[in-house]
Amino acid sequence: MKLIAPNYYTKFKCIADRCKHSCCIGWVIDVDPDTLAYYHSVTGPLGERLKKGIDESGETAHFILGKGERCPFLNKSGLCDLIIGLGEDCLCQICTDHPRYRNFYSDRTEIGLGICCEAAGKLILKQQEKTTLVVLEDDGGVEELEAPDESLLVWREQLMQIVQDRSRSIEKRADVLLQAAEMTIPNRSLAEWADIYLELERLESDWTDRLEELKQTDLSKAPVLDTPEWEIAFEQLLVYFLYRQLPFALDDGEYEARAAFCVLSYRIIRDLCRVHAVLHGSVDLDDLVEISRQYSAEIEYSDENVEALLDALFEE
Ligand code: SF4
Repeated sequence: MKLIAPNYYTKFKCIADRCKHSCCIGWVIDVDPDTLAYYHSVTGPLGERLKKGIDESGETAHFILGKGERCPFLNKSGLCDLIIGLGEDCLCQICTDHPRYRNFYSDRTEIGLGICCEAAGKLILKQQEKTTLVVLEDDGGVEELEAPDESLLVWREQLMQIVQDRSRSIEKRADVLLQAAEMTIPNRSLAEWADIYLELERLESDWTDRLEELKQTDLSKAPVLDTPEWEIAFEQLLVYFLYRQLPFALDDGEYEARAAFCVLSYRIIRDLCRVHAVLHGSVDLDDLVEISRQYSAEIEYSDENVEALLDALFEE
């Protein structure tokens, strides 16, 4: 069995107290049973805090978020009191993993970094070299994938190659990708797309504001964002979506729609960047990282939202 990852994966490092949108704020963090058992064994003041800081009344134990929806162990300096007191190994599975995600195949596991984390977003979207997949672990056996897995991976590789063909503009590559997937994106105005996104479940009020701006801003004079710097960043964004999102088609059969969802996501993020340029006089890759972070948190981490968008791709 192999463990596969994008080539940037091993360079990731959490920026902890320098993170502007810490994953320790605003997310319900479940505590897995093994870690919970360990926390029960902790004594002293930290043991007392653990008892008070975890809700065990429901099916799954979770940290009780405090003021501003902060994890009760995130201190004023933006550091984790559990790591300080017990070491990194004490963390529950979710805290250990985040922002990593995994996709499982019959004879392979793929791992990646979610762009809902700003440090991961920066690493991915600012990488200049093409994203490639590397083997992180290998038991030495011959990979024996089931046929649907194998077909999906071959198809995804073809789509990634289309997206990484730097002899064409990124917009042309997105069009070719849609042709290869035999999909078109319904011809809606940006205001109509914004309305569709506004109907979805939303977490941050800033995200609602962005969508309202998308609805109301005239982009006729906005920059097209086609310099080499932007083209490479959008390429990385599209490859990220393909790598992460296409495997879900193995479960729901929505191969073509999921490919189109990747293009839609890139285009909405690009146009949100253009809106930012009009409203703030300029836009740079840090803004792209932030807009992508919001998009990922609001859309990618909600199955309902992704499904609603897949449906919207088939409605005229
Ligand atoms: S969002 Fe990323 S950089 Fe920020 S605290 Fe979480 S893992 Fe670290």
